[in-house]
Amino acid sequence: MPSALLADATALTDKIVALRRAIHAEPEIGLHTPRTRDKIRAALAHLPLDWREGPSTTGLVATLKGGAGPGRSILLRGDMDALPMPEETGLPFASQVPGTMHACGHDAHVAMLAGAVEILCRQRESLAGEVRFMFQPGEEGYHGARFMLDDGLLGGVGTGIALPDAAFALHVMPNAPHGLIGGRAGPLLAAADQLQVTVTGRGGHASMPHQTLDPVPIACEIVLALQTMVARRFSVFDPVVVTIAKIEAGTAHNVIADTATLTGTMRTLSAANRARLKDEVPVLAAGIAGAHGLTAEVTIHEGFPVTVCDAGAVDFGESVAREMFGGTAFLRLADPIMGAEDFAYVLEKMPGAMFFLGVSHEGDDWQHCCGIHSTKMMVDESVMPQGAAYLAGLATRFLERGWS
Ligand SMILES: [Zn+2]
Ligand SMILES: [Zn+2]
Repeated sequence: MPSALLADATALTDKIVALRRAIHAEPEIGLHTPRTRDKIRAALAHLPLDWREGPSTTGLVATLKGGAGPGRSILLRGDMDALPMPEETGLPFASQVPGTMHACGHDAHVAMLAGAVEILCRQRESLAGEVRFMFQPGEEGYHGARFMLDDGLLGGVGTGIALPDAAFALHVMPNAPHGLIGGRAGPLLAAADQLQVTVTGRGGHASMPHQTLDPVPIACEIVLALQTMVARRFSVFDPVVVTIAKIEAGTAHNVIADTATLTGTMRTLSAANRARLKDEVPVLAAGIAGAHGLTAEVTIHEGFPVTVCDAGAVDFGESVAREMFGGTAFLRLADPIMGAEDFAYVLEKMPGAMFFLGVSHEGDDWQHCCGIHSTKMMVDESVMPQGAAYLAGLATRFLERGWS
């Protein structure tokens, strides 16, 4: 009964909002977010859940076993961590930790997931199978989801517990219409790898370049060659973004440097292109440097893989959203977003999807709202009960009917 789920969630509004505000005021970064963990445990301590923790992170998996016997299993995930940036929202519950802000809405994700836990616990007797609630730190570049998978917290080989049959996550979007749920089949978010190229030559006096091996023009050639490589050697139907965001070389106007360093990001929407870039960028950089008698060394720091949503899971999520919130509640996104998300690791292991939830204020010019990772990013808290109800609706329907 979807409308009943929304009514249940709405009745929990004060609790959901209070948890979000408490977490917002005391943000934590990285894989170890003990105060956030403690707030979650305290908020859900009265509920009939089995808890699993550690050892690599402060992540939690709470399992609700249905009272109507065994059946399917579904994972719902909320990430917990904040960002190293100041907050400028002016909210009364703004961050009390200088230089740290919940600017990606993970405070809202935790609160909505906790709301879903409470709603589903009330339905326990009628549920067959189990729901696993994944509270995950370290999303913002720390691979928290991978650590929790490697720790066996989600099940899988060697744990004695099967991986869940399905997995879902919601991500709030301030610059999307109030309450709109969006998603797409296939790649939703990109793989993001960090790239550093160090060009090494031989420095000297800027007036006598012929007595040096100047790394600056060579670094510039490499920047341009990377764009040519993207445009000429990768299919337009499987997009690639390579951005050199930072160039460093030299100390003074009359000194040729020994080295020049390029730093940037490589974004891909397929594992094949990701692997190709990893192979071919070092060859390109070394080739250009070598042609001029210099060397280039490439270091790639692997970020998250591509977030790929299962087509059936997106159909399922769309159907649940329309059933619960009406025919216009779900939007099929035409294009992926070249940002990255470590829920990708979960979706590599089991079918599922991530959906976006619009959290602009009703009637606001949402296209001009400050987006995630902005110091002024805001969440309309009145959308959070809908998010909690939607997560609960995904679970009840999946346990009842599977993907149909
Ligand atoms: Zn983020
Ligand atoms: Zn995020």
